[in-house]
Parts: sequence; C-alpha cells; structure tokens
Amino acid sequence: MSHRYAVFGHPVAHSLSPRIHAAFAAQFGMALEFVAMDAPPDQFGQVLARFAATGGRGASVTLPLKELALDLCAEVSARARRAGAVNTLLRHGDAWQGDNTDGIGLVHDLAERRRLDLRGRRVLLLGAGGAARGVAPALLDAGVGELWIVNRTPEKADTLADALGEPGRVHTRYWSDLAQLGGFDMLVNATSAGRGGGGLDLPFSLAGNRALAVDLNYGEAAVSFLAWAGAAGIQHRFDGLGMLVEQAAEAFALWHGKRPDTDEVYEALSSRADALQTA
Ligand code: NDP
Repeated sequence: MSHRYAVFGHPVAHSLSPRIHAAFAAQFGMALEFVAMDAPPDQFGQVLARFAATGGRGASVTLPLKELALDLCAEVSARARRAGAVNTLLRHGDAWQGDNTDGIGLVHDLAERRRLDLRGRRVLLLGAGGAARGVAPALLDAGVGELWIVNRTPEKADTLADALGEPGRVHTRYWSDLAQLGGFDMLVNATSAGRGGGGLDLPFSLAGNRALAVDLNYGEAAVSFLAWAGAAGIQHRFDGLGMLVEQAAEAFALWHGKRPDTDEVYEALSSRADALQTA
C-alpha cells in the first residue's frame, strides 16, 4: 500500500497545504500523495480511521479540528500538550502521534527568515484560541521578556496563562485595559476577527518604538490589523503566510526526516494573489 498524506479541516477545499507539500517534495524528487480532506467535526474520528486503513501515514490538521485531533492520539508531544491542540499527525504502528508545529513555525519565520531578535521583547498576544495556545509557549521558549495575553473572553486568557505556568513573565488583562498597557515591542494578532472583514478596536498607544506586528492570518483576513499597525507607525509588519510555510516544513521533516528549503515556497506563494485568500 502506498503512503498517503493529507490535510484535514472543515472547510478545507482552499487549503494551501497540498501545494506547499508538493513543492517541498519536488525539492527532494519525491513522489508524494498529499490531498485536502474535508471532515466535519462529528465525523473526524471515522474519516481519520479510514485514512489510516488506506495507507495514511501523516496529516496536517486545521480549523476546527485541532483540539479533536489531540483526543484521537495515543501519544502527544510536550508542545502539543501545552498548546492543547494538535496540528500534525504521524502514524506510528497502529496509532496516531500528535505534535504541534504552529509555534515553532512562527518563531522560525520571525527569527530565521526575517532575522528578528525576539529576546527580551515585551509582547502583546491578542487572542487565546488554538493559534494563540500554539504560539505562546514557543514565544516564551524563544526568550521574549514579557507576554501579555488579552482575549475577548477573558477567562480563556487566564486559562492559557495558567497553563503556561510562568507568572513572572505572563500576564493577562481585559480588552478594556488596552489603553492603559503602554507600548509593546511586538504585537501578535491571533484572533480570527479579520476573517469576514471585521477588525479590532485597538489604541495606537500599544505600538512601542521598535515594535513589530504579526498577524497570524494572511490575505484579506490580515488587512485590517496590518493597516492599523501601519497607521500606528509600526514598520515591521507581517502576515501569517510565513508561519504557515514554516509549520508545514516542520511537519514535513517529522514525516520524511528531511527539512525542505522554505524560502522559494514562501516567495512563490506570497507573489500569488490567490495564495492570500484562505488557510
Ligand atoms: P479559534 O477559533 O480557536 O480562536 C479564535 C480567537 O479569536 C479567540 O481568541 C476569539 O476570542 C478571537 N476572536 C474572534 N472574533 C473576535 C472579535 N470579533 N474580536 C476579538 N476577538 C475575536 O481560532 P484559532 O486560534 O485556531 O485561529 C485564529 C486565527 O489564526 C485564524 O483566523 C486562523 O486562520 C489563524 N491561524 C493561522 C495559522 C498560520 O499558520 N498562519 C495557524 C493557525 C491559525 P473568544 O475566545 O472571545 O471567542
């Protein structure tokens, strides 16, 4: 039986993952079957079992299945456990192993591709959903100085802060406190507010002198936050396309034991307008 790979989501038809993994495989002259598979949450377990029975060896997992994927794994990496979400599945014997490469994907994009020093930065993380939970531990591991988490539903920010277990470095505040928090060296939009064209109401006082702004969304969903960041005078502004490519490269390395070159894939995608529409 030939080995198969897939991305699972709902919806998933417009996922860039098949294109990214095909480009990675081409770098090594590998023949790779990698398809997008739609799985409604209530059917994900069955769909995944069928995939395994027909040669499935690895999968990426996207919205809204990352938390469910964690429950379907026999073993889970420490970083996926800390994030409470799995974005990468590896078949090991008769069972799935789960990992989460979102956080390291963001850190690679910023620290390696863009050569930005994250150490010591005062960081504001907007959001406390699956993406925020994935990136928060990786930012701490990358040496940021302080991590301030603000979420529309404040209890979720507190739960994330508790799970991170670093009360000296991690703080939570209400959305209504934003104007009193002063300037930050790095602002991360991990909300989905920009999907569907909406935006966030943010004070310009959040933008510190040497700030960088990252939206984990890309394309149209990132327009509103990055436009705000530009108006606030922030020079370094990035969307989440680089993170998407880097998290895929980490997954590729876990499945195939080789890390692809991400620059050419990133450049190709960022020059294509249709790449910017959806995850
Ligand atoms: P979740 O649904 O788990 O979380 C959504 C978050 O957005 C929550 O914190 C939610 O707050 C907040 N939110 C939604 N609408 C608003 C609003 N109008 N105002 C303020 N806050 C809002 O999604 P994920 O965390 O998985 O994903 C978040 C975004 O990140 C998505 O758009 C996704 O596409 C992107 N992403 C990008 C990746 C990449 O590789 N570039 C990887 C993973 C995600 P509340 O808790 O109050 O509901």
